[in-house]
Amino acid sequence: MSTVSLQKLRKTYGKIVAVEGVDLEIAEGELIVLLGPSGCGKSTTLRMVAGLESITSGALQIGNRDVTRLEPKDRDIAMVFQNYALYPHKTIRANLAFGLKMRGMPKDEASQRVQEAAEMLDIVHLLDRKPGQLSGGQMQRVALGRALVRDPAIFLLDEPLSNLDAKLRARMREEIAMLQRRIGKAMLYVTHDQTEAMTLANRIVIMRDGKVQQIGSPLEVYDRPANAFVAGFIGSPEMNIMEGDISGGQLNLGGDVSFAVPQGAVPGQVTAGIRPEALSLTDGGVPFSVQGIEQLGSQTLFIGMMGDHRVRAMTGRRDDIFLGDTITLSVEPSAIHLFDRESGERRGAAGEG
Ligand code: ADP
Repeated sequence: MSTVSLQKLRKTYGKIVAVEGVDLEIAEGELIVLLGPSGCGKSTTLRMVAGLESITSGALQIGNRDVTRLEPKDRDIAMVFQNYALYPHKTIRANLAFGLKMRGMPKDEASQRVQEAAEMLDIVHLLDRKPGQLSGGQMQRVALGRALVRDPAIFLLDEPLSNLDAKLRARMREEIAMLQRRIGKAMLYVTHDQTEAMTLANRIVIMRDGKVQQIGSPLEVYDRPANAFVAGFIGSPEMNIMEGDISGGQLNLGGDVSFAVPQGAVPGQVTAGIRPEALSLTDGGVPFSVQGIEQLGSQTLFIGMMGDHRVRAMTGRRDDIFLGDTITLSVEPSAIHLFDRESGERRGAAGEG
């Protein structure tokens, strides 16, 4: 049974359609990430769930109650903002207790909850400080703590890690995932960062221009992107996307570049996608002239030309290939993604018939 249900949620600002008909069921304990480029409607969707934006049409249920028109405080949600939104003159303890006090919770119970949340987040030693005396990572923890003390039906997080440096982001990401699994509450998390989405989510909701493109587990969207947009957005380094056509069991990418495709791939013009990590260095493959090399430690990323296409190929560590070399690459037929040239929709192939 779902904790939160978004039913055809739509938001317009005058003539601008910010969110178009989002349907989503969030189960108890599920971590859902809303992912997409800037302006795709992620924050607006989250803010409609929070009650910070009115819902133009559609319905929202939280815990079997219709909350479409309710105030944020009556929705059983807790939100964590990007800018932390802490009161600068109050201590961390007072910041954590503030929302509980406003709701009239008895002081003892509030103190107890603050203590528990602080222990969970390892910020007990900071409780008597003021926000100005904390680092960015510590403030982020306090912001999380303020949501945690509320014990809501769902946590709403809008780009919570974007003010942190790369290392701290990765650490906080792990902590949020562990914390969420421990408390077992639903979470809706907005980010434009596909790595964050892949590593955190039980399911990812990928949006573009206000519309949901695909909903699936990280590996589902990686293995079977619903369209060329999702294919290009999920995965790092980005998938190579090329125009080509299929005939005689071959994907022809122009010039002399061609790869075998699975039997049954329908002939015609396509948009083809090949992940950098699906390309492998083999004798007798397609020629690739090396123009860039990125050593990542355990792996090597090659950037270069395959016919007229600029392509990236990710292999295991190689230090015996140099700029200007020509190497040959091949790909398993089942690892080639095929999309309709016009609509961008997945055509199947990739071994799916
Ligand atoms: P995201 O969070 O994915 O970056 P938003 O949800 O913030 O995107 O915005 C979605 C779309 O709605 C954008 O085109 C944005 O310009 C528009 N939008 C957001 N808020 C407003 C507003 N208050 N007035 C007019 N347009 C808005």
